[in-house]
Amino acid sequence: MTRQYSRRTLLTAAAGAVGAAAVVSLIGRGGAAQETTALRGTIMGTTYRVTLPRLPAGVSADTIGRELREILDHVEATMSTYRTDSEVSRFNCAAPDEWVPISVGTSRVAAAAMEMARLTEGAFDPTVGPLVDLWGFGPDGPSVRIPDAAAVVAMRRQIGYAALEGRQDPPALRKQREGLRVDFSGIAEGFAVDQMAETLDRIGVSDFLVELGGEVRCRGSNVAGRSWTIAIETPKLTAARPQGHVELTNAAIATSGDYRKFFIVDGRRYSHVIDPRTGRPVDHGLASVTVIARSAMQSDALSTAIFVMGPEAGFAFAERHQITALLISRSETGFSERMTASFARYRGERPA
Ligand code: ADP
Ligand code: MG
Repeated sequence: MTRQYSRRTLLTAAAGAVGAAAVVSLIGRGGAAQETTALRGTIMGTTYRVTLPRLPAGVSADTIGRELREILDHVEATMSTYRTDSEVSRFNCAAPDEWVPISVGTSRVAAAAMEMARLTEGAFDPTVGPLVDLWGFGPDGPSVRIPDAAAVVAMRRQIGYAALEGRQDPPALRKQREGLRVDFSGIAEGFAVDQMAETLDRIGVSDFLVELGGEVRCRGSNVAGRSWTIAIETPKLTAARPQGHVELTNAAIATSGDYRKFFIVDGRRYSHVIDPRTGRPVDHGLASVTVIARSAMQSDALSTAIFVMGPEAGFAFAERHQITALLISRSETGFSERMTASFARYRGERPA
């Protein structure tokens, strides 16, 4: 039995060293002599990095760093399932049929999560948290054991986004069923990235690359005045080279996979993405799904959803909805790729 936790989950406030590279790591184009501002830190149990090749006149990196940090602290304080005082935790403890007030940010995330749930017919489901916990990927920490089948079935009955209701004015959430809980981990990192991007826009920063826990959004050009080159990880942590690269100027990109957070029992891999229809970790040969979209919230949630759907249904869904996606499956010889035509257009040359 082995277990690997190289990067902590979104919204994990667990103690200990924060993991290594992001799911989508960044490769700089060599030879640039210019200076680039890099802001880094840890939040929600993961790391973030903001690369700013050019700052507007009169705006210091410190000021930007502080503004971005405020955004991140707010997302964590409101949406972390690891903090008992967060809005999400308060909602999770609340009784049914009672409107629980939430902030505007949480309500935007909730609305987007519910829209994603409808679009993906429940492959993405923000109420899947109890199952995430049952499989040992929640705030109680890793358990590395397979839960009892009856417990999975019972827990599966407790979940379902249809029993979650949101309202905008004033923003609040309500559950229609006892025990319903929300977990925005599959979308809130993307939201935090979008919030950072919006703030940079507002400040007048025209070129940036923002990365948080593997969710990336970029705009403009890098220090060398070229499009941003984003590496897509080979879905195997010991891999020497990335799977490939994409060139982006104004887009978001996210990867969901089973190669960073999983445990293995009797040769079978159990990962942190749960198929709400079975109540079990996804198990269909896909190793990762990368999605390019306009917002990081979309790419974050869609990559998780397509990963849940699997290689066939996920690819068909991506084509049907014009989603720019790369699906990587495990094969006898390593990995095999399948991508939408729109994804192929972003595919760049491997930098030397
Ligand atoms: P990462 O944490 O690597 O960014 P994802 O964006 O795919 O990965 O989010 C995975 C997290 O989302 C899980 O840790 C879990 O908390 C939550 N989750 C798991 N399965 C689902 C699902 N089917 N729908 C929505 N959220 C999910
Ligand atoms: Mg995701």
